[in-house]
Amino acid sequence: MLKLPSHIAVLTSGGDAPGMNAAIRAVVRSAVYYGKKVSGVYNGYEGLIDGTFEELDSRSVKYILNHGGTFLKSARSQRFRTPEGRKQAHENLVKAGIDALIVIGGDGSFTGAKIFSEEFDFQVIGVPGTIDNDLYGTDFTIGFDTATNTAIECIDKIRDTASSHDRLFLVEVMGRDSGFIALRSAIAAGALEVIMPENSITYDQLYQAIERAGQNKKFSNIIVVAEGNKLGNIFEIADHLKAKFPHLDIKVTILGHLQRGGSPTVFDRVLASKLGVAAVEGLLIGRNKVMAGVMHNQVIYTPFEEAITRRAYINPELIRINKILTI
Ligand code: ATP
Repeated sequence: MLKLPSHIAVLTSGGDAPGMNAAIRAVVRSAVYYGKKVSGVYNGYEGLIDGTFEELDSRSVKYILNHGGTFLKSARSQRFRTPEGRKQAHENLVKAGIDALIVIGGDGSFTGAKIFSEEFDFQVIGVPGTIDNDLYGTDFTIGFDTATNTAIECIDKIRDTASSHDRLFLVEVMGRDSGFIALRSAIAAGALEVIMPENSITYDQLYQAIERAGQNKKFSNIIVVAEGNKLGNIFEIADHLKAKFPHLDIKVTILGHLQRGGSPTVFDRVLASKLGVAAVEGLLIGRNKVMAGVMHNQVIYTPFEEAITRRAYINPELIRINKILTI
Protein backbone atom coordinates (compact mmCIF):
# COMPACT_ATOMS: atom_id res chain seq x y z
CA MET A 1 0.00 0.00 0.00
CA LEU A 2 1.46 3.33 -1.11
CA LYS A 3 2.09 5.75 1.75
CA LEU A 4 1.93 9.34 0.52
CA PRO A 5 4.11 12.00 2.14
CA SER A 6 2.80 14.41 4.76
CA HIS A 7 5.97 16.44 5.34
CA ILE A 8 8.30 17.28 2.43
CA ALA A 9 11.86 18.62 2.73
CA VAL A 10 13.60 20.56 -0.04
CA LEU A 11 17.30 21.31 -0.52
CA THR A 12 19.66 22.70 -3.16
CA SER A 13 22.92 20.87 -3.83
CA GLY A 14 26.05 21.11 -6.00
CA GLY A 15 26.79 24.26 -7.98
CA ASP A 16 24.24 27.04 -7.61
CA ALA A 17 22.17 28.06 -10.61
CA PRO A 18 19.90 31.05 -11.24
CA GLY A 19 16.30 29.91 -10.87
CA MET A 20 16.93 27.64 -7.87
CA ASN A 21 15.05 30.14 -5.68
CA ALA A 22 12.10 30.04 -8.07
CA ALA A 23 12.12 26.23 -7.83
CA ILE A 24 12.20 26.30 -4.00
CA ARG A 25 9.29 28.76 -4.04
CA ALA A 26 7.30 26.49 -6.35
CA VAL A 27 7.97 23.44 -4.13
CA VAL A 28 6.94 25.29 -0.96
CA ARG A 29 3.82 26.86 -2.44
CA SER A 30 2.59 23.68 -4.12
CA ALA A 31 3.19 21.64 -0.95
CA VAL A 32 1.14 24.21 1.00
CA TYR A 33 -1.51 24.17 -1.76
CA TYR A 34 -1.87 20.39 -1.32
CA GLY A 35 -2.05 20.71 2.48
CA LYS A 36 1.39 19.26 3.20
CA LYS A 37 4.04 20.45 5.67
CA VAL A 38 7.26 21.60 4.03
CA SER A 39 10.75 22.28 5.41
CA GLY A 40 13.81 23.87 3.86
CA VAL A 41 17.20 22.24 4.48
CA TYR A 42 20.13 24.67 4.61
CA ASN A 43 23.48 23.87 2.92
CA GLY A 44 22.45 20.90 0.79
CA TYR A 45 23.35 17.45 2.09
CA GLU A 46 25.51 19.04 4.79
CA GLY A 47 22.31 20.44 6.28
CA LEU A 48 20.65 17.01 6.25
CA ILE A 49 23.54 15.68 8.33
CA ASP A 50 23.60 18.72 10.66
CA GLY A 51 19.81 18.81 10.97
CA THR A 52 19.58 22.46 9.87
CA PHE A 53 15.91 22.32 8.85
CA GLU A 54 13.34 25.10 8.99
CA GLU A 55 9.63 24.73 8.43
CA LEU A 56 8.50 27.07 5.64
CA ASP A 57 5.15 28.52 4.62
CA SER A 58 4.03 30.39 1.55
CA ARG A 59 5.23 33.73 3.02
CA SER A 60 8.73 32.32 3.70
CA VAL A 61 9.39 32.32 -0.03
CA LYS A 62 8.14 35.79 -0.93
CA TYR A 63 10.41 38.03 -3.05
CA ILE A 64 12.81 35.25 -4.02
CA LEU A 65 11.45 34.37 -7.47
CA ASN A 66 13.60 37.02 -9.13
CA HIS A 67 16.82 36.45 -7.16
CA GLY A 68 19.81 34.45 -8.40
CA GLY A 69 21.57 31.92 -6.17
CA THR A 70 19.67 29.91 -3.55
CA PHE A 71 18.50 31.28 -0.22
CA LEU A 72 18.78 27.76 1.24
CA LYS A 73 22.49 27.85 0.23
CA SER A 74 24.17 25.01 -1.59
CA ALA A 75 27.13 22.84 -0.70
CA ARG A 76 29.24 19.92 -1.77
CA SER A 77 29.25 17.37 1.05
CA GLN A 78 31.98 14.80 1.55
CA ARG A 79 30.17 13.43 4.61
CA PHE A 80 27.11 12.50 2.54
CA ARG A 81 29.35 10.24 0.45
CA THR A 82 29.87 8.06 3.56
CA PRO A 83 27.32 5.55 4.97
CA GLU A 84 27.70 7.18 8.43
CA GLY A 85 26.85 10.61 7.03
CA ARG A 86 23.77 9.32 5.22
CA LYS A 87 22.63 7.40 8.34
CA GLN A 88 22.82 10.61 10.37
CA ALA A 89 20.88 12.44 7.62
CA HIS A 90 18.16 9.77 7.70
CA GLU A 91 17.89 9.88 11.49
CA ASN A 92 17.48 13.68 11.39
CA LEU A 93 14.75 13.46 8.76
CA VAL A 94 12.83 10.81 10.71
CA LYS A 95 13.18 12.80 13.94
CA ALA A 96 11.70 15.86 12.18
CA GLY A 97 8.78 13.78 10.87
CA ILE A 98 9.86 14.33 7.26
CA ASP A 99 8.88 11.52 4.90
CA ALA A 100 9.91 12.78 1.43
CA LEU A 101 12.71 14.84 -0.05
CA ILE A 102 13.10 17.07 -3.11
CA VAL A 103 16.69 17.61 -4.28
CA ILE A 104 17.40 20.51 -6.63
CA GLY A 105 20.82 19.98 -8.23
CA GLY A 106 22.87 18.20 -10.87
CA ASP A 107 23.92 14.64 -11.64
CA GLY A 108 26.18 14.34 -8.58
CA SER A 109 23.32 15.38 -6.32
CA PHE A 110 21.03 12.80 -7.95
CA THR A 111 23.66 10.07 -7.52
CA GLY A 112 23.66 10.85 -3.79
CA ALA A 113 19.85 11.01 -3.78
CA LYS A 114 19.53 7.62 -5.45
CA ILE A 115 21.92 5.92 -3.02
CA PHE A 116 20.16 7.51 -0.04
CA SER A 117 16.71 6.62 -1.31
CA GLU A 118 17.70 2.97 -1.86
CA GLU A 119 19.51 2.63 1.46
CA PHE A 120 16.61 3.87 3.59
CA ASP A 121 13.61 3.27 1.32
CA PHE A 122 13.05 7.04 1.42
CA GLN A 123 10.94 8.83 -1.21
CA VAL A 124 13.05 11.30 -3.23
CA ILE A 125 12.45 13.34 -6.39
CA GLY A 126 15.07 15.44 -8.19
CA VAL A 127 14.71 18.80 -9.94
CA PRO A 128 17.44 19.59 -12.52
CA GLY A 129 19.20 22.76 -11.37
CA THR A 130 22.52 23.34 -13.11
CA ILE A 131 23.73 25.89 -15.64
CA ASP A 132 25.44 23.12 -17.65
CA ASN A 133 22.25 21.60 -19.17
CA ASP A 134 24.01 18.23 -19.08
CA LEU A 135 21.21 16.04 -17.70
CA TYR A 136 19.37 13.35 -19.61
CA GLY A 137 15.58 13.53 -19.23
CA THR A 138 14.95 17.24 -19.71
CA ASP A 139 15.36 19.56 -22.67
CA PHE A 140 16.57 22.30 -20.35
CA THR A 141 17.93 22.52 -16.82
CA ILE A 142 17.16 25.43 -14.51
CA GLY A 143 19.85 28.12 -14.87
CA PHE A 144 21.05 27.25 -18.36
CA ASP A 145 19.02 29.94 -20.11
CA THR A 146 20.12 32.66 -17.68
CA ALA A 147 23.78 31.60 -17.92
CA THR A 148 23.62 31.68 -21.70
CA ASN A 149 21.97 35.10 -21.70
CA THR A 150 24.69 36.39 -19.38
CA ALA A 151 27.36 34.96 -21.68
CA ILE A 152 25.74 36.68 -24.66
CA GLU A 153 25.52 40.00 -22.87
CA CYS A 154 29.27 39.80 -22.17
CA ILE A 155 30.18 38.61 -25.67
CA ASP A 156 28.18 41.46 -27.24
CA LYS A 157 30.28 43.90 -25.20
CA ILE A 158 33.48 42.13 -26.18
CA ARG A 159 32.43 42.38 -29.81
CA ASP A 160 32.26 46.19 -29.56
CA THR A 161 35.92 46.36 -28.62
CA ALA A 162 36.86 43.55 -31.03
CA SER A 163 35.41 45.42 -33.97
CA SER A 164 36.92 48.76 -32.96
CA HIS A 165 40.42 47.28 -33.05
CA ASP A 166 40.11 44.38 -35.51
CA ARG A 167 40.82 41.90 -32.75
CA LEU A 168 40.28 38.19 -32.44
CA PHE A 169 38.81 37.29 -29.04
CA LEU A 170 38.78 33.83 -27.51
CA VAL A 171 35.98 33.76 -24.93
CA GLU A 172 35.77 30.87 -22.48
CA VAL A 173 32.35 29.85 -21.18
CA MET A 174 31.37 27.28 -18.53
CA GLY A 175 29.65 23.93 -19.09
CA ARG A 176 31.98 21.37 -17.50
CA ASP A 177 32.21 18.41 -19.91
CA SER A 178 29.53 19.64 -22.28
CA GLY A 179 29.22 22.38 -24.88
CA PHE A 180 25.58 23.42 -24.46
CA ILE A 181 26.42 26.93 -23.22
CA ALA A 182 29.20 27.28 -25.79
CA LEU A 183 27.18 26.28 -28.85
CA ARG A 184 24.10 28.30 -27.96
CA SER A 185 26.25 31.35 -27.15
CA ALA A 186 28.18 30.95 -30.41
CA ILE A 187 25.00 30.88 -32.48
CA ALA A 188 23.40 33.78 -30.61
CA ALA A 189 26.57 35.90 -30.71
CA GLY A 190 27.48 35.16 -34.32
CA ALA A 191 30.86 33.72 -33.32
CA LEU A 192 33.36 32.66 -35.99
CA GLU A 193 33.88 29.24 -34.40
CA VAL A 194 33.05 27.22 -31.32
CA ILE A 195 35.50 24.87 -29.64
CA MET A 196 33.61 22.36 -27.50
CA PRO A 197 33.91 18.75 -26.34
CA GLU A 198 31.33 17.58 -28.88
CA ASN A 199 32.91 18.90 -32.09
CA SER A 200 36.57 17.77 -31.71
CA ILE A 201 37.76 20.69 -33.84
CA THR A 202 41.42 20.60 -34.96
CA TYR A 203 43.95 23.42 -35.21
CA ASP A 204 43.90 23.07 -39.00
CA GLN A 205 40.15 23.65 -39.03
CA LEU A 206 40.58 26.69 -36.79
CA TYR A 207 43.33 28.11 -39.02
CA GLN A 208 41.11 27.61 -42.08
CA ALA A 209 38.20 29.41 -40.39
CA ILE A 210 40.41 32.39 -39.52
CA GLU A 211 41.96 32.51 -43.01
CA ARG A 212 38.52 32.33 -44.60
CA ALA A 213 37.32 35.19 -42.37
CA GLY A 214 40.32 37.27 -43.51
CA GLN A 215 39.55 36.52 -47.17
CA ASN A 216 35.94 37.62 -46.53
CA LYS A 217 37.26 40.87 -45.01
CA LYS A 218 35.96 39.88 -41.58
CA PHE A 219 38.67 41.29 -39.36
CA SER A 220 37.10 41.23 -35.89
CA ASN A 221 36.13 37.81 -34.66
CA ILE A 222 34.93 35.91 -31.63
CA ILE A 223 35.72 32.27 -30.98
CA VAL A 224 33.73 30.68 -28.15
CA VAL A 225 35.67 28.10 -26.14
CA ALA A 226 33.91 25.62 -23.85
CA GLU A 227 35.87 25.01 -20.64
CA GLY A 228 35.70 21.23 -21.19
CA ASN A 229 36.90 21.29 -24.83
CA LYS A 230 39.44 18.69 -25.95
CA LEU A 231 41.77 20.98 -27.91
CA GLY A 232 43.32 22.47 -24.79
CA ASN A 233 43.49 25.28 -22.31
CA ILE A 234 42.31 28.62 -23.74
CA PHE A 235 45.75 30.24 -23.23
CA GLU A 236 47.46 27.38 -25.10
CA ILE A 237 44.96 27.77 -27.93
CA ALA A 238 45.68 31.51 -28.02
CA ASP A 239 49.45 30.81 -28.15
CA HIS A 240 48.97 28.44 -31.11
CA LEU A 241 46.92 31.05 -32.97
CA LYS A 242 49.43 33.82 -32.20
CA ALA A 243 52.25 31.65 -33.58
CA LYS A 244 50.29 30.94 -36.76
CA PHE A 245 48.93 34.50 -37.23
CA PRO A 246 51.54 36.85 -35.70
CA HIS A 247 49.89 39.88 -37.33
CA LEU A 248 46.59 39.30 -35.47
CA ASP A 249 45.78 41.00 -32.16
CA ILE A 250 44.49 38.01 -30.15
CA LYS A 251 42.90 38.40 -26.70
CA VAL A 252 41.53 35.97 -24.14
CA THR A 253 38.53 36.51 -21.86
CA ILE A 254 37.26 33.97 -19.32
CA LEU A 255 33.69 34.71 -18.26
CA GLY A 256 33.89 32.42 -15.20
CA HIS A 257 31.45 32.80 -12.32
CA LEU A 258 29.68 35.77 -13.88
CA GLN A 259 27.63 33.09 -15.65
CA ARG A 260 26.28 31.66 -12.40
CA GLY A 261 24.86 34.88 -11.00
CA GLY A 262 22.08 37.31 -11.76
CA SER A 263 18.34 37.42 -11.84
CA PRO A 264 16.88 34.38 -13.65
CA THR A 265 15.35 34.91 -17.09
CA VAL A 266 11.62 34.51 -17.67
CA PHE A 267 12.35 31.14 -19.25
CA ASP A 268 14.19 29.89 -16.15
CA ARG A 269 11.55 31.26 -13.77
CA VAL A 270 8.77 29.49 -15.66
CA LEU A 271 10.78 26.26 -16.00
CA ALA A 272 11.64 26.29 -12.28
CA SER A 273 8.00 26.95 -11.37
CA LYS A 274 6.81 24.08 -13.57
CA LEU A 275 9.39 21.63 -12.22
CA GLY A 276 8.87 22.61 -8.58
CA VAL A 277 5.15 21.90 -8.91
CA ALA A 278 5.89 18.70 -10.88
CA ALA A 279 8.21 17.46 -8.12
CA VAL A 280 5.55 17.88 -5.41
CA GLU A 281 2.79 16.42 -7.59
CA GLY A 282 5.13 13.53 -8.46
CA LEU A 283 5.62 12.74 -4.76
CA LEU A 284 1.86 12.85 -4.23
CA ILE A 285 1.24 10.23 -6.91
CA GLY A 286 3.94 7.98 -5.46
CA ARG A 287 6.84 8.72 -7.82
CA ASN A 288 10.21 7.88 -6.32
CA LYS A 289 13.89 7.94 -7.37
CA VAL A 290 13.07 10.04 -10.43
CA MET A 291 13.99 13.45 -11.81
CA ALA A 292 11.19 15.76 -12.98
CA GLY A 293 12.01 17.24 -16.37
CA VAL A 294 10.37 18.91 -19.34
CA MET A 295 10.67 17.38 -22.80
CA HIS A 296 8.81 18.79 -25.80
CA ASN A 297 6.93 20.99 -23.34
CA GLN A 298 5.59 18.01 -21.36
CA VAL A 299 6.52 17.18 -17.77
CA ILE A 300 8.14 13.76 -17.58
CA TYR A 301 9.76 11.73 -14.79
CA THR A 302 13.04 9.97 -15.59
CA PRO A 303 14.54 7.38 -13.18
CA PHE A 304 17.67 8.73 -11.44
CA GLU A 305 19.52 5.73 -12.87
CA GLU A 306 18.90 6.98 -16.43
CA ALA A 307 19.28 10.70 -15.67
CA ILE A 308 22.77 10.16 -14.28
CA THR A 309 24.08 7.44 -16.60
CA ARG A 310 22.72 8.51 -19.98
CA ARG A 311 24.27 11.43 -21.80
CA ALA A 312 22.34 14.53 -22.80
CA TYR A 313 23.24 15.05 -26.45
CA ILE A 314 23.59 18.37 -28.18
CA ASN A 315 21.06 18.76 -30.97
CA PRO A 316 23.08 18.09 -34.18
CA GLU A 317 20.81 20.52 -36.00
CA LEU A 318 22.30 23.36 -33.94
CA ILE A 319 25.82 22.28 -34.94
CA ARG A 320 24.73 22.22 -38.60
CA ILE A 321 23.13 25.66 -38.38
CA ASN A 322 26.22 27.09 -36.73
CA LYS A 323 28.42 25.73 -39.53
CA ILE A 324 26.26 27.37 -42.20
CA LEU A 325 26.17 30.72 -40.44
CA THR A 326 29.89 31.02 -39.76
CA ILE A 327 30.71 31.15 -43.45
P1 ATP B 1 26.74 20.69 -10.68
O1 ATP B 1 26.37 20.02 -11.98
O2 ATP B 1 26.24 22.09 -10.63
O3 ATP B 1 28.19 20.58 -10.29
P2 ATP B 1 26.13 18.41 -9.02
O4 ATP B 1 24.89 18.02 -8.31
O5 ATP B 1 26.57 17.50 -10.13
O6 ATP B 1 25.93 19.92 -9.52
P3 ATP B 1 28.32 17.49 -7.31
O7 ATP B 1 29.33 18.28 -6.56
O8 ATP B 1 28.80 16.50 -8.30
O9 ATP B 1 27.33 18.58 -7.96
O10 ATP B 1 27.40 16.69 -6.26
C1 ATP B 1 26.76 17.38 -5.19
C2 ATP B 1 26.80 16.54 -3.94
O11 ATP B 1 26.10 15.30 -4.16
C3 ATP B 1 28.19 16.09 -3.49
O12 ATP B 1 28.90 17.10 -2.81
C4 ATP B 1 27.85 14.92 -2.59
O13 ATP B 1 27.46 15.36 -1.32
C5 ATP B 1 26.63 14.30 -3.30
N1 ATP B 1 27.11 13.14 -4.07
C6 ATP B 1 27.65 13.13 -5.29
N2 ATP B 1 28.02 11.87 -5.66
C7 ATP B 1 27.72 11.08 -4.60
C8 ATP B 1 27.86 9.69 -4.30
N3 ATP B 1 28.41 8.85 -5.19
N4 ATP B 1 27.43 9.24 -3.11
C9 ATP B 1 26.86 10.07 -2.21
N5 ATP B 1 26.71 11.39 -2.41
C10 ATP B 1 27.12 11.89 -3.57
